[in-house]
Amino acid sequence: MKKYYKLATLLIILCLCFTIVGCKSKKEIEQNKKLEVQAECSINLSAISNACDIYAKEHEGKYPNSLDELKRNSKENFSINCPENSNKYLYISKDEKYYYIIKCSDHKIIMDNKLGIIELDTFKREPKFKNIVQQELQENLNPEELKEIGID
Ligand SMILES: [Zn+2]
Repeated sequence: MKKYYKLATLLIILCLCFTIVGCKSKKEIEQNKKLEVQAECSINLSAISNACDIYAKEHEGKYPNSLDELKRNSKENFSINCPENSNKYLYISKDEKYYYIIKCSDHKIIMDNKLGIIELDTFKREPKFKNIVQQELQENLNPEELKEIGID
């Protein structure tokens, strides 16, 4: 009888172990999926940026007024919505400053034509980088737009 108890205990422990391992890998899979979607989003932002540059070349240095206008006039293949939950990216352009900025609110990623891709959460943790980014954005955007972008 004692032998069976031991065997049963061993089985229960084994089951627990498998459950824990199962949970962990499920979490890892979810984490990986998240990273994959975020990477896809960054690729989108780069592609939009690329299309903006091409647009400007074809329109005497003028950037598109909106992402819809860009999409309508571009032969490039890109999405103007984040793959996370299809929210449209935020876009602001300033022709007189040769400047544009695109933001994904879901992933808190911004991309402009001067600094490239910036993760908002990461850059806020690095004081030196933060100053550079803040200065750059303040030169190009008004207070209201800074708020919209998430920098104020
Ligand atoms: Zn996104």
